[in-house]
This record gives sequence, C-alpha cells and structure tokens, in this order.
Amino acid sequence: MELDAKDDGVENSIVVGAEVDISSAYDCAVCLQPCNQPVKLPCGHVFCYLCVKGATQQSKRCAMCRQEIPVNFLDNPQLVAETLSTVAFEDKYQWFYEGRNGWWQYDDRTSLEIEAAYKKGDTECEVLIAGFLYVIDFQRNLQTRRCDPHRKRHIKRDLVTIPKKGIAGIRQPADTVVTTTDPDSCSSSSDEE
Ligand SMILES: [Zn+2]
Ligand SMILES: [Zn+2]
Repeated sequence: MELDAKDDGVENSIVVGAEVDISSAYDCAVCLQPCNQPVKLPCGHVFCYLCVKGATQQSKRCAMCRQEIPVNFLDNPQLVAETLSTVAFEDKYQWFYEGRNGWWQYDDRTSLEIEAAYKKGDTECEVLIAGFLYVIDFQRNLQTRRCDPHRKRHIKRDLVTIPKKGIAGIRQPADTVVTTTDPDSCSSSSDEE
C-alpha cells in the first residue's frame, strides 16, 4: 500500500531517511550527545526534551546552572527551531507508544534503537528514556519501566503517517493533531503523558 506523504498536511513533519541536522548544533550536557528534540530552558541552556524531562523528575534544576525549571515547562517547552522533523525507516514505519488518547511517536534516537533490536530479531530490548530504563517487549508489544513494572504502555510499529499526538511528549502543532476518542485507552495510572 502506497501512502502519499503530501496528504493530510503532514509533509512538514517527515524527512524520510534524512539526518536531522538542526539538533547537531547543540550538544546536550546531560546525555553528552547531540540534542534530540532540543528545548531551551528559561536560563538559556539547551538540552534534549527528554533529558529535561528526566531532570524535572529528579533535581528540577538546569544541569548547567542549577536554575530551577518551571513546573509547567514540559507542557509548553520552548523548542529550538522546528524540532518535530523526524526520520522514518526505509519502509516508512516508526515506533509508537500509547498515550491517554492516542499514540506518541518515540523520539528518533529511541525509535532507531528499538528498530535496530527489532530488525535483529531480538524478543526484547532496553532503552533509556528521560533517565529511566524501559524494557521493550516485542512479543507482547509492551513497554515496561525496568524498576517499576506496573508502568506499562502498549507500543506498536506503524506507518509514520498515522494520526499521532506528537513525538515523545512534544505535541504536534494544533492543526495536525488528530486525537482518537477511544474511551478505554487507559494507561491512566501514569503521570507522564
Ligand atoms: Zn540529552
Ligand atoms: Zn541553565
């Protein structure tokens, strides 16, 4: 089945097979890699969105200057440039995890790690997301937090063009958000959307 990437106004969010080079301009002081979905804190320091998320669950301070991170920062992060561009695998697939009313796409780095394990035929793999280790179970299509196995989410490998909430907790621009209203998508007990 061929999908035309120009449909549905999603063409801006897809760069098939391309490097996302906006982010390589910044190295993240937390993970020491080029920033993945870089966001700028009020103090001006730039980190990966997920690294800031990890920090807010721990010290709640900037890793560089220790300035406090506003409590609502993650809901409305200041993105550095258009960071929602994303890679898709050669067959236009990506990895997604279940959120409250729809699916979040994994950030590119995590998605590539999961894909690599999947392609190798592994039954599971571990990924580090926002400071927590998660086990990806390919047989049950579940993501489980290593140190807190009650935190489970469904995952799936699907076309990058499916309706989604956003990428790794950063919402899509409003005009492209399509929410499903599945009443019993109950990953409820989770505080992280
Ligand atoms: Zn980082
Ligand atoms: Zn700072």
